[in-house]
Amino acid sequence: MTSVSGNLADLRRTLPEGVTLVAVSKFHPLETLLEAYAAGQRIFGESRAQELAAKAAAMPADTQWHFIGHLQTNKVRPVVAVADLIHSIDSMRLLQAVDAEATRAGRTVRVLMQVHVAREETKFGFTPAELLTLLTPEVIASLRSTRIAGVMGMASNTDDEARIRRDFADIRACFDTLRRGVMSADPDFTVVSMGMSHDWPLAVEAGANMVRIGTTIFGQREY
Ligand SMILES: *Cc1c(COP(=O)(O)O)cnc(C)c1O
Repeated sequence: MTSVSGNLADLRRTLPEGVTLVAVSKFHPLETLLEAYAAGQRIFGESRAQELAAKAAAMPADTQWHFIGHLQTNKVRPVVAVADLIHSIDSMRLLQAVDAEATRAGRTVRVLMQVHVAREETKFGFTPAELLTLLTPEVIASLRSTRIAGVMGMASNTDDEARIRRDFADIRACFDTLRRGVMSADPDFTVVSMGMSHDWPLAVEAGANMVRIGTTIFGQREY
């Protein structure tokens, strides 16, 4: 028999020190999140604005919420209201919408820029080349209430381990280029969010310091 607390304990034993665990709880019921909370987990990842808002209202106040899904500009308000970190900034328009809403709400929001390297065409995000071009000092200086804390990415959905390693290395390289370049004066630019249930060990090997794990903790999702 496996349990949420047992799965969490197993994961914590294997995750290297310095790697932050985001428990991806999307589509799982509140009881399951509370079980993880009771086992000490505080950071939860959600991918839909409405579901995040409902769960944030019901969970203990010191729960930290990470938004990991594609965020439409018309759903920014409820997400900015509760999110500690938005992993999925995939357009400059979204970055500006988040900043405007955070300013309006009087909050500071931390975000990650989503890097697209996987071969699936449907995935969201900037290619490394786009990001390095679009994230200019002017854009960064224009942000009033948003801190760019790092990058997030996903590897191709494939069994080809070499390809997965290459994808993660590309995401990490993009982070390193930004950190040495346009983000070099910002000590808060530290997060490399990559790796999910099936590929997180490869992500950590490639330099992830934040992993987003759902199925391994909570079991299969029922959509
Ligand atoms: C759902 C999701 C995860 C977690 O996936 P698992 O395979 O259940 O670990 C991680 N990252 C993102 C962006 C997701 O949408």
